[in-house]
Amino acid sequence: MTDDRFETRAIHAGQEPDPTTGAVTVPIYATSTYAQDRPGQHKGYEYSRTDNPTRHALEAALASLEGAGQDGGSVAASSGMAATALIAWLLSPGDGVVIPDDAYGGTHRFFYNVAAQSGIEVAVADMTDRAALEAVMTEATKLVWVETPTNPMLRVVDLAMVNEVAHAVGAMVCVDNTFATPYLQRPLELGCDLVMHSTTKYLGGHSDVVGGAVMANDAELIERLRYLQNTAGPVPGPFDSYLVLRGLKTLAVRMEAHCANALAIAEYLSSHSEVEEVFFPGLASHPQHELAADQMGGKYGGMVSFRPKSGIEAANAIAAATRLFFLAESLGGVESLIEVPAVMTHLSVAGTSNAVPDDLVRLSVGIEHVDDLIADLAQAIG
Ligand code: PLP
Repeated sequence: MTDDRFETRAIHAGQEPDPTTGAVTVPIYATSTYAQDRPGQHKGYEYSRTDNPTRHALEAALASLEGAGQDGGSVAASSGMAATALIAWLLSPGDGVVIPDDAYGGTHRFFYNVAAQSGIEVAVADMTDRAALEAVMTEATKLVWVETPTNPMLRVVDLAMVNEVAHAVGAMVCVDNTFATPYLQRPLELGCDLVMHSTTKYLGGHSDVVGGAVMANDAELIERLRYLQNTAGPVPGPFDSYLVLRGLKTLAVRMEAHCANALAIAEYLSSHSEVEEVFFPGLASHPQHELAADQMGGKYGGMVSFRPKSGIEAANAIAAATRLFFLAESLGGVESLIEVPAVMTHLSVAGTSNAVPDDLVRLSVGIEHVDDLIADLAQAIG
């Protein structure tokens, strides 16, 4: 199984036909508990907070796709933020964490307003700049949190560089791989310690589930995360696990379509007279284009941000005027979405070092026909 290619593992890893009935899709094991033959003698499952066969299959598939290897594994969570909390619980009071200066707003809010209350020291750095990262590292730093590409500025971070800087002081590197997905980028294979996902996005892929996951290559780390998952309880239910597992099967083909559509839209916007600036790692003008080409296998994901020439008013008007691009938070589904991060997904970081430009428009480019999407943007931008 591990020798199989990505597309094959997405459909088969952890997803053998059901041993009882032969069902070719993993059943939704809607059960909280499991009958035992004698006290303590069971078939591997005791209680669904601890483990559930549908969730188990999802975790096996995710571990395989992220390249977690024999010693590693995956722990599924009830949301991306729950996965972030599981990782933060690996830290102790006095430990330091560095987060990116344009992390997802919820990640910034979590570390500053929740993790900090448990005595975690939080620092922020522009992770595209080695010197800026090195400047905030201390002996107490135990975790460097990376997003690449970042949300919503689409900056690309050199994971090999971050590993070097973090590992030099014994800190772990965790990559929020939500935007790239393992189809484009597998941080564990590059030597990072942890990968985190909001499976709500591309992995689920249909905007019908909220979920999260953590992957690691290290048996002890996975055991500790599993302990935290069982002890604190932020587990996904069997139906949610099934939805993500179902989404994974088509991840490769969906990502191909997302990437192609996003590139075409970024090029269209770049040539538009009413557009000031486009943020997309696939454009040759992007400051980290070469790095992105190398690190993401020559594909750049489905997210595009831009700033219209006429500022906030224009940004709000465009976001309200699209027909196919629904005005909504979130991303990574088959349908295209448009939003203004400063007043939507990133409202919680207004006025902080993570604040985003007021006039930024973010697109989650779906897999509709690209000509229809471009026509929709054309009529909205005017
Ligand atoms: N990480 C990124 C990059 C995100 O965009 C999000 C949500 O938008 C999260 C984490 C949080 O995930 P969730 O909403 O599933 O809790």
